[in-house]
Amino acid sequence: MDSDKLSREVTPEIISKLESAIGKDNVNTHPEERLLYSHDLAPLPGVAGIAFKNIPDVVVRPTCTEDVAAVMRIAYENGVAVTPRGNSTWGLGGCQPVFAGIVVDFSSKMNKIIKLDPEHLCVKVQAGITFKEVLDACMAKGFIIGSYPSSFPAATIGGWYGTNGMGIGTYKFGSVKDNVLNMEVVLPDGSVIETGYDNIGAFMSGYNLNQFFAGAEGTLGLVCTFTLKMYPMGVIRPTIYNFENLADADPAIQAIAKHPSIKPLHVSWADFNHFANQARAAKEEPSIHVHSECKNTVLVVLQGDERFVDLEDEAVEEIMVKAGGQKLPNEIADHEWDERCYEFRARAVGVGEIPAEVIVPSNSWGQFVGECYEGFSKMKMETGGIIGQMVDPQTVLFMPYYFMDNEGMLGMTAFSFNFYLGDVATRYGGRTTGLGVFFAWNLDNIHDANTVEYMRELKTYLDPRDVMNPGHVVCGLTRFGISLSHGLMEFASKMMQTVKKMLPPDSTFADNIERFHYNTLEEEKAADRKHVLGRGYE
Ligand SMILES: Cc1cc2nc3c(=O)[nH]c(=O)nc-3n(C[C@H](O)[C@H](O)[C@H](O)COP(=O)(O)OP(=O)(O)OC[C@H]3O[C@@H](n4cnc5c(N)ncnc54)[C@H](O)[C@@H]3O)c2cc1C
Repeated sequence: MDSDKLSREVTPEIISKLESAIGKDNVNTHPEERLLYSHDLAPLPGVAGIAFKNIPDVVVRPTCTEDVAAVMRIAYENGVAVTPRGNSTWGLGGCQPVFAGIVVDFSSKMNKIIKLDPEHLCVKVQAGITFKEVLDACMAKGFIIGSYPSSFPAATIGGWYGTNGMGIGTYKFGSVKDNVLNMEVVLPDGSVIETGYDNIGAFMSGYNLNQFFAGAEGTLGLVCTFTLKMYPMGVIRPTIYNFENLADADPAIQAIAKHPSIKPLHVSWADFNHFANQARAAKEEPSIHVHSECKNTVLVVLQGDERFVDLEDEAVEEIMVKAGGQKLPNEIADHEWDERCYEFRARAVGVGEIPAEVIVPSNSWGQFVGECYEGFSKMKMETGGIIGQMVDPQTVLFMPYYFMDNEGMLGMTAFSFNFYLGDVATRYGGRTTGLGVFFAWNLDNIHDANTVEYMRELKTYLDPRDVMNPGHVVCGLTRFGISLSHGLMEFASKMMQTVKKMLPPDSTFADNIERFHYNTLEEEKAADRKHVLGRGYE
């Protein structure tokens, strides 16, 4: 059928078809429910509703691959948009609908371990399970899965694969896409494919489909199951080093990246601002979350057979001490490792706390630390801290974060720091990470024109009715079909940066600390606001 003749509307007839296909209990059109599914973790201002039809018509909760395929067939027949959703922790609007339609909620019912197989060193799971659940089950049997995001208690396997993210374990084992043996994927027309083999690698077997859907943010297919590689765990040994200034650690970072044998599971850093703000925001006194000894730290986590880990530990210590690092007690290293999913504790004060995520070549690490501080000062930011990690020997991820007022209109100008840092990263041969709905326009910035055209052609060919998460990745569209074009957004980004520099410095964190007492924070904030259904908090 010609795609122009498709209804694109979710009619009562489509709702009954969905109900008969996957069961009435798994199809929800309640207004409050739909409102909850209209955005991800990022706060979305009310005006967003003008640009995007972000409230879905219906939320479905499939239980298996066949259910997902049935939903997709109905959507395809009618040209209805389908948005896959994990646990909505990404923050770039990847699982936010742009043209309403159907949200497929993977985390509610497609969250089971299908098979944990030590014999074949693999684990097969449904896409909506969290990394924590998979990791816990594997560790109980003496195995780990290669890598996971620091949001692992909530992030789903499907969600992280969808973003092709970087995280804990990526330095040693690559991202989740590098650890996939097989997947069941539902295509836009509802057909189901397998991308590899459950018990053996997909070598010399045609196009590498195990990696093809990674980073597609759900625009090419709905991944329903993953078979992931498992690795024998051995010991996991966190070690931590203190530096007078964060940039002093540069020779150590370079030495690790260029070392022929050291392969830590994870290398991350945090500067003095991060620790100071964690302490200021802490509810307990003295804080159980912060060690006062920590100034500017580099955490190096080693993993494997104990004898090999001993050797690596010794070599890492030599490198760190040579760069002026001081080894902190094991208890602090263990604590910081345990804290790896709580980088944003300072948010407890009731502020917006936003990281500007960029990747740059590892050899510019030391200089880039300086760029982050300069950026905070030039853009009059309220500094949160500089945190980040080594992604692989070539690449480092910086996540300098800042505080912002996410309730006032002018607070939004703080986002210009992300644009600013993205521009700086580009000068170093790096770039911002992730597209989602808000940064889809950036695709033209980070690839050459031929490459972008090829990606757009692929999407058009593979999803001719544009039903699979439309308005994301290859075209940041508004509900009117007008694209957030590269030129327009570049202009807006420069304007925002100029305005931000003209405004007084931010002080939301400092103000909030005075305004809210920790024990009454939630009550006072609730009293401050009035919730109006469909219009959010006013
Ligand atoms: C405190 C904190 C720490 C974080 N740390 C990290 C980190 O270390 N590394 C990192 O990369 N990110 C990190 N993130 C971002 C985010 O948590 C990750 O991107 C996470 O993997 C998203 O998973 P999710 O289940 O919430 O996905 P969602 O946000 O629900 O979805 C993400 C994208 O994947 C698509 N998608 C979801 N499920 C499927 C599916 N089954 N098939 C096809 N497409 C699908 C969605 O449409 C969307 O485009 C962090 C976030 C927070 C709040």
